[in-house]
Amino acid sequence: MDHFPIFLRVEGRRIVLSGGGEAALAKLRLLMKTAGHITVFSADPDPEIAAWAENGKLRLVRRAMAPGDTLCAALFYAADEDDAEDARTAAIARADGALVNVVDNLEDSQFITPAIVDRDPVTIAIGTEGAAPVLARAIKADLEERLPVALGPLARIGKTFRKAAEALPFGRARRDFWRDYYFNAGPSAITGGETAVQGALDELLTDHLARKARPGHVHFVGGGPGDPDLLTMKARRLLDEADVVIYDRLISAPILELARREAVMIDVGKEAFGPSTPQETINDLIVEHAQKGAQVVRLKSGDATVFGRLDEEIDALDAQQIAWSIVPGITSASAAVAEIGQSLTKRGRNSSVRFLTGHDMKGFADHDWATLARPGEVAAIYMGKKSARFIQGRLIMHGADRHTPVTVIENASRPEQRILDTTLDALPTALAAAEMSGPALTFYGLAPRDAVPAQTDNPYSTPIQAQEAL
Ligand code: SAH
Repeated sequence: MDHFPIFLRVEGRRIVLSGGGEAALAKLRLLMKTAGHITVFSADPDPEIAAWAENGKLRLVRRAMAPGDTLCAALFYAADEDDAEDARTAAIARADGALVNVVDNLEDSQFITPAIVDRDPVTIAIGTEGAAPVLARAIKADLEERLPVALGPLARIGKTFRKAAEALPFGRARRDFWRDYYFNAGPSAITGGETAVQGALDELLTDHLARKARPGHVHFVGGGPGDPDLLTMKARRLLDEADVVIYDRLISAPILELARREAVMIDVGKEAFGPSTPQETINDLIVEHAQKGAQVVRLKSGDATVFGRLDEEIDALDAQQIAWSIVPGITSASAAVAEIGQSLTKRGRNSSVRFLTGHDMKGFADHDWATLARPGEVAAIYMGKKSARFIQGRLIMHGADRHTPVTVIENASRPEQRILDTTLDALPTALAAAEMSGPALTFYGLAPRDAVPAQTDNPYSTPIQAQEAL
C-alpha cells in the first residue's frame, strides 16, 4: 500500500486550487461537497467557476498563484492543465506546507483523490494507487447501484441516536442494536420519513434493553482449503460477527481479513510433528472466551469434522454446558479433486472413497491396506507427505500395482498451488524432489484428467498444463 486511505477533516480549513478549465471544474464539483473553504486562483476562469464564486460557494482570485497564497491550506490541487504551470504552483504549495495533488500526475502528487460513493455521512472511497482508474469507476458504479439512497438519511438519523444507544452495554449488545436498525427497523420505517425512523429507533431500543445478554456460543467453522471464495456464506457472516476468532495454522490470510478489525484473533497453529499449542490449551481458550459471553468462531481448515480433533473441543464445551454448532466447510479432498478435474467416485471404477490420515497420534497410521491395494480403489490421504514411504511400502506389500497413479496437490485452491503427477512406485522420490512445504493432499488411485478446461472464473485455479513441471 503506497497510499494510506484516511478521511481528512477539512471542515473550516482552506483548500486551494490553481486552474480554471475542465480539470479544475471536475475537481471543484467534488470539493464543493465538503465543508472546506475553497479558493481558486485563475486569471481566466470558466464562467461556471465565476458563477460559483458569485453564489458564495468558493472564493475566486483572478490571477496566477503566487508564493504565500497557500499558507495554512490543508490541500492544494494543481489543475492548470499545463505541466510547467503545475510544477510552479505545486512548488509554491509545497513550500507553504500544503498537501499537494497535481491532477493526472501521480508521480508529483503527495495524495490522490479516490473514486467516491457518496451517501453522506456514509462515504466510500475507492483507490487503485492510480493503477486502474477504470476499475475504480467500475467498482463505484457497482456500489452506487447496490447501496440504497436511504442509507445516507438512515446514517444521519442514526448518528443523532448514538448517545441514547449508549444505554446498551458496549460491544455485542450495542452492535446487535445497530445491525437491527440498519438492516431491519430503519429501512422499514424510512418511507414514513424522519419521525417514523425516530419512532422506530425508540421502539427498537426499548426492545433491545429488555433482552437478556446473549450467552457465549462457539461455532466450529470450516474455513475451506484457503481460497476465500470457497468459504460458505454462513462462514463469512459468522466471521464478520465474531468477537473472538481462534484459528489454525492452515487458515489463509485473506480469510482472516474477513473478521472484524476489533475481533480478538488467536493463532493456535499446530505444526505437524513440530511445536504446537497443546490441545488442552486450545480447549481452555475456547471455554474461557465462551464463558465470558463471547461469540467465538473456532476456525479450522477444510471441514471441521475431518481430521480436526473436533470431538475433543466439543467435549470440553459440553463439560461446561456451553452451546456450540458446526458449520461445514469444503474439505481439502474436495478442493484438490476439483483441481485435477476428476471425481472422487466413478461408476465402474470405485463405489467408495476413503479419507485417510498419513499419521495419527501414535505415529504413522495403519489402515486396511489389503482392501486398498485392490485395483480401482481411491483414497484421499491427508497429512501424507512424511508417511509417503510407509504408505507405499504397506500397499505394495499387500499386492498393489506399482503403476497405480498417485497425485499430490499442494496448496489446493491457493495461488501457490502445485500438482505432482506420479505413481505409487515413484511417490517417495518424486515427493522428495518436489520439496513441498505447504499442506498437501495425496490421491491414491487418481491421476489428473488429461485435458482440464481452463477455469477462467477462478483466479486461483491454474489449468494443469500450466502447472510448474515437477
Ligand atoms: N480439516 C481439514 C484437514 C486438516 S488436517 C480438511 O478438511 O481439509 C491437515 C491436512 O489437510 C494437511 O496436512 C493436508 O493434507 C490437508 N490440507 C489442508 N489444506 C490443504 C490445501 N489447501 N491443499 C492441500 N491439502 C490441504
